Amino acid sequence: MTIIGCPTCNARNRVGPIAHGIPRCPRCKSTLPWVVDADTDTFTAETTASVPVVVDFWAAWCGPCRMISPVLEDLAKSHSGHLKVVKVDVDANPGLATRFGAQSIPLLVVIRDGQEIDRVVGALPRAALEQRLRPVLAA
Ligand SMILES: [Zn+2]
Repeated sequence: MTIIGCPTCNARNRVGPIAHGIPRCPRCKSTLPWVVDADTDTFTAETTASVPVVVDFWAAWCGPCRMISPVLEDLAKSHSGHLKVVKVDVDANPGLATRFGAQSIPLLVVIRDGQEIDRVVGALPRAALEQRLRPVLAA
């Protein structure tokens, strides 16, 4: 369960994993920027979505991770309804880091329909990342 603030009316909304459809603000019906944290227990549910999921493997000590985090939040906002961002702390979830081979972070893994379709290692600037994700966002 994640609390997501509505960018339109500022309502705070509780959003759980939604396998089909996208989260909307119950008050004003705006699509919500879909950024959630996941751990080993919630990972499968949170990465099961009808929109493409970008999994952000990060750690508190990783400087470039702090650069890419606001970029992802911004992309989630400008592409709300077409993208979900799932953040995984590799220190707290070493099993997930191993499973996805996250030796070097930040690592972004793009998942669509349960399948990895792309991965980006390192912090790309916003424009480059958006360009890279364009085919995913357009689908
Ligand atoms: Zn709202």
